Amino acid sequence: MDAKKALQVWVEHPYYRYRGCAPDVDVPGRAAGDTALSLDAWHGSDRDGSEPQREREARQVAAVEVCLSCPVMVQCDAYANSVVVEDGKPRLAEPEGIWGARTALERHRAFIKRRHEVAVPAPAEQLKTPQKLRVLEALAVHVSPEAVAEAAGVDVRTANWQRSRLVTQLNLDKGTATRRELLAAAVERGLLDAAVVVGDDGRVPAVPPPSPSRPAAAGAGAVTGGVEEGAVPSSAVPSVLHGRVRRPGRGRRRVIVGPGQLSLDDFLAPVVNVFPRNETLETAA
Ligand code: SF4
Repeated sequence: MDAKKALQVWVEHPYYRYRGCAPDVDVPGRAAGDTALSLDAWHGSDRDGSEPQREREARQVAAVEVCLSCPVMVQCDAYANSVVVEDGKPRLAEPEGIWGARTALERHRAFIKRRHEVAVPAPAEQLKTPQKLRVLEALAVHVSPEAVAEAAGVDVRTANWQRSRLVTQLNLDKGTATRRELLAAAVERGLLDAAVVVGDDGRVPAVPPPSPSRPAAAGAGAVTGGVEEGAVPSSAVPSVLHGRVRRPGRGRRRVIVGPGQLSLDDFLAPVVNVFPRNETLETAA
């Protein structure tokens, strides 16, 4: 429900006049739900942080107590926590104070948790970039990430990145969105012609899961199972070869090579050959 409608429902409720935070008719400045309580109890001076913590907590507890007996608590909560868009950004209709028996902090936390649902859809100009449209058109007829990328005329990484951006901008859940959902949302936003979409069984993810292996360096050899043939996996290369020299710290123990263990030289031997012949280990480091 939008904020305007929610506000109307709240103020037009037949019990609205009996709300706990209404001004008491007999005790000016006091709340009808508890005449010992000032009407300021729902908002207080905590906005600028000047209110002592103990006072603030006591005030909030008392106000929430009144809210819990309020006949329009549900409608009040629905209005205050409905979402309005300001400068293109979503925010709570009532970002300050206690509403519907919840403090501003509690309401903001809840808002952050459901921000995915209340995210503002991306404007059309952000969605209709030539590359995104090409990726969508490719995704409409292909399933494998490589085929999508090739048909879109981009590399796989770029295609996947654009798919990920589209999922976010179309307000889909990045963790669970499927190709089918992404294409349906794109059709709904006028980014894609429904007639060109080739269906799948609904299990193809909108964004392919990240590859467990790093791409091979160009010209470094064939790739088998994510590791270059004849190349040393980077995890096996000591940090000295990555440009850092680790010196034993004061508290560190030096490893004594014993029988049956490899020495550092044994360990380095297979990887030293990855450097040009005239390049010393120190230079490379
Ligand atoms: S629930 Fe809303 S209307 Fe009722 S007392 Fe609390 S703040 Fe006031």
